[in-house]
Order: sequence, then C-alpha cells, then structure tokens
Amino acid sequence: MRNTIFAALKFCSVFSLSSLGAMSALPVEQVQAACRGGKGIGVHRTVALNTSGGRRYGKSHGRAQDFLKHKEVVLTFDDGPVPNITPKVLHELDQHCAKATFFMVATMAKNNPSLARKVANKGHTIGIHSYSHKNLGQQSGANAVKDVNRSITAIEKAVGRDVAPFFRFPYLSENKSVNQHLNRLGYGVFAIDVDSLDYKFSNPTSMVNRVMGELNRKGKGIILMHDIQKVTARGLGQLLDRLNSEGYKIVHVRGRGGKDPQEPILVSSITEKQNKPKPTIVASNTNAESTTSWTIRKSISTPTKEAVKQKKRKNVRMLTNSKNPIRAKLKKRITIANAKPSKKTKKQKVASLTAQDIFKRNKKKALKQFNKNKLAFRAAIKGRISTN
Ligand SMILES: [Zn+2]
Repeated sequence: MRNTIFAALKFCSVFSLSSLGAMSALPVEQVQAACRGGKGIGVHRTVALNTSGGRRYGKSHGRAQDFLKHKEVVLTFDDGPVPNITPKVLHELDQHCAKATFFMVATMAKNNPSLARKVANKGHTIGIHSYSHKNLGQQSGANAVKDVNRSITAIEKAVGRDVAPFFRFPYLSENKSVNQHLNRLGYGVFAIDVDSLDYKFSNPTSMVNRVMGELNRKGKGIILMHDIQKVTARGLGQLLDRLNSEGYKIVHVRGRGGKDPQEPILVSSITEKQNKPKPTIVASNTNAESTTSWTIRKSISTPTKEAVKQKKRKNVRMLTNSKNPIRAKLKKRITIANAKPSKKTKKQKVASLTAQDIFKRNKKKALKQFNKNKLAFRAAIKGRISTN
C-alpha cells in the first residue's frame, strides 16, 4: 500500500515539474514511446556541475566531487568523433533515450565538424580531450597549456558553439600547469570511476560484463568508453539494457554558468514513468496518506460535470436503498461529518455529499471512525467512488 503511494507521488512530482518547465516542448509520452517501446533506460536526472575552483570528478584522480547517488552512472565517450563509429553510438543512445558526455579530441572534431555538431545537437554534452591526444603529463607546462587552448578553440569552432567546461587528460596523465590553467578558466577535470577497457575487448558481451562487474563492485560511477572502438558501438545497446535491468540510472552532466550553451532541462525518468499509477482508491490509516490519495486521483482525471452529476445520483440511489448493507455505516459516517448543524434536512445533506466532502469536512472524526471499522470503511469508499 505504502509503495503504491510513494510510486504515485514520485510520478506526480515529476509530471507536474516537467509540465511547468522547459520540458513542455518534449512530451513525456513521446519520449517514453521512442525508447524501445517505453522500456529504454532514459535519463534519470540532469546535473549542472559547478566546475569553478578546480573541481574534479571521478575517483581515479583521488580527491573528487561526488555528485552521484547509489546506482547512478554517467556515460562518457572519449577520443572521437569518427564517422564509422560515433553515429552508431549516437543511434544506440537514441534508441534508449540516454544522454552521454563526449570528450572530443580537437583533430577529430576538426576533421568531422558535422558529426561533432550532430553530437551536440542531439543534446549530449561535449567536453575537451586535448588537441591531438598527446600525453600532456609528459609535456612542458607551457606546451601543455598551449595544447589545451588550441583544443578548446578548435572544438568550439567545429561544434559551432561553446562546449561544457569539462576537460579530461589523455591517458588521465595530468600536468600541473594545465590544472592551474583549467582552474583559471573555470574548467572541471574529469577522471573516471569505471574503465570499460573497451580497447582490449573484441567481444561486446565481455566488455559489458567488465563494466557491470566494476559497477556492481563500486555501486555507481563515471564510465569511460571510447567512440573510436567498434566493440563499444556493438556492445552499447546491450550495456544500456543491462544497466536498466539491474536498476542503474543514467545521470546526464552539463556545465553551469553560461559556458555550456544548453541549459539543463528536466528530463523525466523512464523508470518513474513506468510506475505511473493507475487510478486506484487508496484506503489508508494516516491523515497524510489519505489526503495524498485524493490529490493523486484529482491529478489523473478531472471529472466532467455530467460525471459528477451521475456520481451524485448513484450515491443517492445507494443511500436511499434500505437493503444496501453499507448504508447504515455510511449514514453513521455522514452524521459525524455533519456534526455542525445546518438548515438542510438530513436527506438533503446525504444527497449532496460525496466521499471527498466527508474527508474535507471532518477528517479527524472520519479517520477515527475508519480506524474503528477499517474493513467497512474500505468497502464503503470503494462502492462510492467507483464511478469516478
Ligand atoms: Zn583518450
């Protein structure tokens, strides 16, 4: 019972927020339908990272900002874009309605500018992964900083707009001068939590097993893959399905502070949408939950005037039928609900009442009564609201 309520609440909060915000241009149902018939993993949440102050992400660098909750993952692809593999990766992400971060090498983006733009236009995040994938840790500070500056300029030119202030060192080999420089620029440094080792595998299932094994050990993390590896494109769909079936959720990271041109949008979780509550009567024995159950019903469908009239007519029929076994109990409840005297006759009061009215008018007494006779209450409520 409680689970039903929580699932319903979860759905309602996402639904109402998305309908208010930037999400309005992206109907939830359409997103859901596009994701493998509603079974795609989707994006659980989007996080705008404040990268100022030399922040670092991913445990492989040691000290890191931990923005992930248990069973949350961030997908990252390095070294592209390349024409024969990046489009396949994009296709798989589309199929599962997933979003990722692509750490591009400037020479690759320069050679494939339309592909680089395509990655950005699909709503993925683009970060910087050096100019030509040199080991910056082995370069002089001045040369390494020059490399970084060139790479940012070239990648932004190829993509046609600013990219996220995210940098990942090739081979994760850091350079102190570059770190200081990135700090001044407001860039965050990305390391990794889970290395797919995709370059070592030829069998996609082996790669997927490797990632899932590491994730199950660590519980969450930033996953490193490469969109220059064929095995990655071939195994990505399988990986996304495994992540979904094993309860992992995708977090999409974006930059904050105007550098990343695409403002974070609220993206509803597919998992949450699958928990969409069916209109059910929730009889519960606490005040808060009772109120909630009514709210949920209201949010799902607003009855037409004719439906309200019909419901009232049905209530009257039921209450005036002396053979109805729940009549006596309902009458008792209604009497309690109408503790304050009014000018209406008793019969009129009965006719004009709905179950919601009873709750609204005298919740405490109604609930006290309910606690005394829970089963009778459930039966009564079910019978009265079934037409709504
Ligand atoms: Zn790389």
